[in-house]
Amino acid sequence: MKLIAGNWKMFKGPRETRDFCEAFAPPEGVEAVLCPPFVSLPAALESGHTIFAQNVHWADDGAYTGEISAPMLAELGVAGAIVGHSERRQFFGETDETVARRAVAALGHELRVIACVGESLEERESGQMELVLRAQVEAIRDAVGDHEGLVLAYEPVWAIGTGQTATPGQARQAHSIIKELVDVPVLYGGSVKPENAEELLTQEGVDGALVGGASLDVESFTALCRTAANL
Ligand code: PEP
Repeated sequence: MKLIAGNWKMFKGPRETRDFCEAFAPPEGVEAVLCPPFVSLPAALESGHTIFAQNVHWADDGAYTGEISAPMLAELGVAGAIVGHSERRQFFGETDETVARRAVAALGHELRVIACVGESLEERESGQMELVLRAQVEAIRDAVGDHEGLVLAYEPVWAIGTGQTATPGQARQAHSIIKELVDVPVLYGGSVKPENAEELLTQEGVDGALVGGASLDVESFTALCRTAANL
C-alpha cells in the first residue's frame, strides 16, 4: 500500500484544518497522512485521520524555546513526525546530526518518522548527488537502523515548490541508492500533483509521496490518494 503524506508547511490554522479534515475522505487502499502546523494538530486529530507533526525535538523537555518534544506529540495522539525537511535544513540550520537526533527521539516514543533527504541543484550539477544522499541517509541509518517506524522521503531540493519534478528515471536512480543503504519505505517528494503522480508512483522503489502544494487543496489531495489507491 502506498503512503501519501501531505505536508502543509506553514499553511492552515485550526479552522481551515477542521474544514479540510471534514471534507477529506481518502479511498481504501492507500495510507493517507496529514501534517498540519503544530497549532492545528488538535483540530486535525478530532477528525480521526492519521496525523503527523512537521518536526520534533530530540529532548523530552528542557530550555528549548519554540520547540515541541516527542512525548508531547505522543500525548496529543499524533502518529509521527517529519524530520529533516529541506526547508528546515535550509532556513533553520538543521544538520544531518540534528535530524538524526530528532528521529531517534521520535522513534523512541513510538512515533513514526518521515526523514527527508535530497540534494540541491548545485550538488546535482556538480556530480555530488550520490555523495550527498549517502551522507544524509547514513546519518539517519546509523542512528536508528532499519527501524519499522522509519520512512525516508527523497526530496530533491530543486523540485520542492518549483513545479519541476524529477524525471521518473532520476527518481528511480535516487530511490535505488537509498534502498541500497537502508531497508525502509521511500517516498518521493517534489512538485507531485495529480497529473504526474502515476508516472512517479509506479517507478521501482517509490513507495509513496510526500506532497506540499498539492496537499493544501482537498480535491487535489484526494485525487492523489485515489491515483495511489488504484495502482
Ligand atoms: C514538500 O514540502 O515536502 C514538497 C515536496 O513540496 P511540493 O510538493 O510543493 O514541491
